[in-house]
Amino acid sequence: MEKTHTHDVIIIGGGVSGTALLYLLAQYTDLNDVMLLEKYHVIANVNSHGRNNSQTLHCGDIETNYTLDKALQVKASANMVVRYAEKLKNKEDILYKYSKMVIGVGDKEVSQLRERFSQFSPHYSGMKLLEREDIEKIEPTVIDGRKENIIALAVLDEYTAVNFQALSQSFVDQALKVKGKTIDVKLNTKVTKIKKSDDGYRVKTSSGTHHAKFVVVSSGGHSLLFAHRMGFGLEFSCLPMAGSFYYTPDMLKGKVYTVQNDKLPFAAIHGDPDVLVPGKTRFGPTALALPVLERYNWKTLPEFLYIFKLDLNVIKTLWGLLRVSEIRNYLFKNMCFELPIIRRHLFLGDARKIVPNMKLKDLTFAKKTGGIRPVMIDKKNHCLHLGEAKLSPGNGLIFNMTPSPGATSCLGNAEKDLDIIVEFLGAKVDKDRLNKDLR
Ligand SMILES: Cc1cc2nc3c(=O)[nH]c(=O)nc-3n(C[C@H](O)[C@H](O)[C@H](O)COP(=O)(O)OP(=O)(O)OC[C@H]3O[C@@H](n4cnc5c(N)ncnc54)[C@H](O)[C@@H]3O)c2cc1C
Repeated sequence: MEKTHTHDVIIIGGGVSGTALLYLLAQYTDLNDVMLLEKYHVIANVNSHGRNNSQTLHCGDIETNYTLDKALQVKASANMVVRYAEKLKNKEDILYKYSKMVIGVGDKEVSQLRERFSQFSPHYSGMKLLEREDIEKIEPTVIDGRKENIIALAVLDEYTAVNFQALSQSFVDQALKVKGKTIDVKLNTKVTKIKKSDDGYRVKTSSGTHHAKFVVVSSGGHSLLFAHRMGFGLEFSCLPMAGSFYYTPDMLKGKVYTVQNDKLPFAAIHGDPDVLVPGKTRFGPTALALPVLERYNWKTLPEFLYIFKLDLNVIKTLWGLLRVSEIRNYLFKNMCFELPIIRRHLFLGDARKIVPNMKLKDLTFAKKTGGIRPVMIDKKNHCLHLGEAKLSPGNGLIFNMTPSPGATSCLGNAEKDLDIIVEFLGAKVDKDRLNKDLR
């Protein structure tokens, strides 16, 4: 067989995960030859595009579904994004400062948030406990027409939103600027197969074959597809959870989250200013199970079926979820949120938990907006594996599956990949400089 040039690393997928890794490898290691392959004509056109996610830099302070441990891990990764982006000339196109708060409504949620404040505030210096009149000064529409008891945990002066596509593009731009290295970014290049060779992997694409000592697959929902095709990660199936959004005129000054129902494995809806659509507030995301790996792309249905592998373990896991009436009702309600004509009426009830006086005429379904969270089904333990998952079989391959908060964790996650890669290839990494720059 014809011998092709061997790259040190090939990264498959030009979303925020793949591009963050490209940047770290180019900037902080002595690896000289890294290639990134992306099937679309632009970087970050799928889940990392601002229209498809909630644009939130998750720090764990207002996300009541995070334990303190998880919150502190996410905070550390979020901090890396801020440290990276605040040095850029175009940081205004990437990082945004809005106030953010989580509201506790009714006596139970109010006491839950007071308790959370005493546990979390020592770790979050900017965190404030807001009473009704404080909330009213910042977000009057949250108080207008509300009778129930309410408090909020808030952060008022930090970066809270990110244009993750612009962030991804900047990772590529910065990587390409590193002198003396071959950094090759190929767009419009769909990877069709990865095959083991004597000294690495052959990566077959729509426009030729490439060869590398190490391959990292950061292809969103498709990462598990590549893993399954190579015989890895078969203990996982995938439940793709789509998230849709609704627009209203400008109703909130900042991000307003609600308290998570701890029986539900999916994040509660929130209201956010949209960094791409000034003058509108976006409410969502909903949580709709869909049999595709990429939103609005039904060609990915066969690929979903390939990794779903409906067997007794998958049925047992799904049955375990559906047996809980709250999850069942929630999933049914979220399906109805997609039905034209009635969906706005139904969603209004949920959105009024944030803005009680919202009117039906204020709500518009956000068309072609919202991506897919590829939630892993753990077939051994019959449960959902929430958050990111990494398969690293120790043979020069990594597969990254990245539901929320995968975009916030891009640099933290990429650093884990970098550590595995440099150890496997015997390369060097300048951790002192990395820590100085990003921590
Ligand atoms: C509704 C919703 C809201 C979210 N909100 C947030 C949030 O507020 N904050 C947050 O931190 N996270 C959020 N997330 C999660 C976040 O969007 C993802 O974790 C993140 O974008 C994943 O980035 P990625 O690069 O791993 O995947 P993606 O952005 O999906 O990128 C994968 C790339 O791989 C490419 N690709 C796929 N197959 C191939 C192939 N065969 N060949 C070549 N290229 C290929 C795709 O074209 C794509 O560009 C949200 C997700 C959703 C769906």
